[in-house]
Amino acid sequence: MSADPSATLLINGVWQSGAATFDVTDPATLTVVAQAADAGPQEALAALAAADAAAETWRRTTAEERSAALRAGAGRIRTQADALAALMTSENGKPLGEARGEVLGSARMLEWAAEEARRTNGRVAPDAAGGPGMVLRSPVGPALAITPWNFPASMLVRKVGLALAAGCPVIVKPAEQTPLVGTELVRLIAEAGALPAGVLQSLTTTRPAEVAGALLADRRLRKVSFTGSTEVGLSLLASTRDHLRRTSLEMGGHSPAIVFDDADLPAAAASAAAAKFANAGQSCIAINRLFVHRSVHDEFLALLLEKVAALRLGHGAAEGTTTGPLIDFAGLDKVERHVVDAVKRGAEVAAGGRRWVPGDPALTGAFYEPTVLTGADDTMLISTEETFGPVLPLYAFDDDDEAIERANATDYGLAAYVFGSGLARVWRAVDRLSFGVVAVNEAFPVRPELPFGGMKNSGLEREGGSEGIDAYLESKSVAIKL
Ligand code: NAD
Repeated sequence: MSADPSATLLINGVWQSGAATFDVTDPATLTVVAQAADAGPQEALAALAAADAAAETWRRTTAEERSAALRAGAGRIRTQADALAALMTSENGKPLGEARGEVLGSARMLEWAAEEARRTNGRVAPDAAGGPGMVLRSPVGPALAITPWNFPASMLVRKVGLALAAGCPVIVKPAEQTPLVGTELVRLIAEAGALPAGVLQSLTTTRPAEVAGALLADRRLRKVSFTGSTEVGLSLLASTRDHLRRTSLEMGGHSPAIVFDDADLPAAAASAAAAKFANAGQSCIAINRLFVHRSVHDEFLALLLEKVAALRLGHGAAEGTTTGPLIDFAGLDKVERHVVDAVKRGAEVAAGGRRWVPGDPALTGAFYEPTVLTGADDTMLISTEETFGPVLPLYAFDDDDEAIERANATDYGLAAYVFGSGLARVWRAVDRLSFGVVAVNEAFPVRPELPFGGMKNSGLEREGGSEGIDAYLESKSVAIKL
């Protein structure tokens, strides 16, 4: 990287600062921690030209070479894990332990992509009239990866790993709130893998619509992979007017969890608290609606409240912090609106339910107390919209079919959780839940080996697993007459 720390644009192998810069702030203290370059359409098109020029070279590297480059990147991320975690906490606010876990998870994703890079072969079809057939597979071409602030390392590395493994050059556009850790990851992967100019590029910007718009209007861009809000994802899809391109969308969620009366209740309470309050609830797979069998509701609630009482708000870099701030005050306002609406309609606050007032005057960020609501019903805002904050509403249910039906009553379909011990009962729920990812007695259902993504308005295509690489490959059928 150049000596200028605001040179966060990697275009055609050169780190550059743009014509302007923007401030990156610590969401816990609202202090400026760094500057990043503010790319515009001109830089975006320069990156696309470089990606287009590099596409053939990268496609012609062997699978073995691409695999080795990705493995080298993963190794570098592992050795730099502490520094990367500190950088992430400084711009995202999450506790250091969570940030470190995300960085190491990113290295695992890159290692998986490195292995899958060697298995992108096609197949031979059986003889038909005339002769055999063959399916060849080739990279789709230059890709754009647009990523959110809530998991600024893993969302970016997953896309980079799968694109590069498939043989596609990729331009990353990290979220404007968290450009630092993404930029550093790009630097480490590009350097460790000695990637040719144009194969991996980075555009930090405060003008995502303009930058993405310039790229999407250009036919040389062959693939866009987006993680973020459903609203923006749908607008990207609508922008494809007169030419099609491959599109992967990972969007919002409204995850239900179902706790059956035969669940291991202490373990289920611990998992539910972890799946809800990690990253201060700002996760697309956070549990947003917790359905508990009425016969164990009160016992489960007491166990859950013990877990919530153990959470410690504070600066993510401070010893003992389990819960950092929300990313900004707009996020806090939404959380507050949802809680006020729920209480007005009859829900009760069992824990939290208000802004957190820190003892330390330096902590001026948007903190909200981890909150549990009981007596929620399906009409409240909290039941119909993604809250994206540390609020967990509980709903009592009487029979399994009712719980499954209510869990499915959403336009989202990303993740769902089931806690129970009876195999047939759990299996029935797994089979009937309309979600792309189902966690059984598990708090964190993301594994590089498994395809990740949503049904309905939660997304298109999958990331991870072999399906993740497929999303960057075209197939070509060859019919041979002998
Ligand atoms: P967002 O859609 O506002 O931003 C996400 C990314 O899109 C950022 O990089 C942003 O700069 C960019 N962007 C914004 N407007 C754009 C435009 N008009 N054109 C092109 N790019 C644009 O999302 P957010 O609020 O920052 O992120 C939170 C959302 O992301 C939540 O809904 C969450 O559920 C979702 N999310 C989904 C997953 C998943 O895997 N399904 C993972 C994490 C987050």
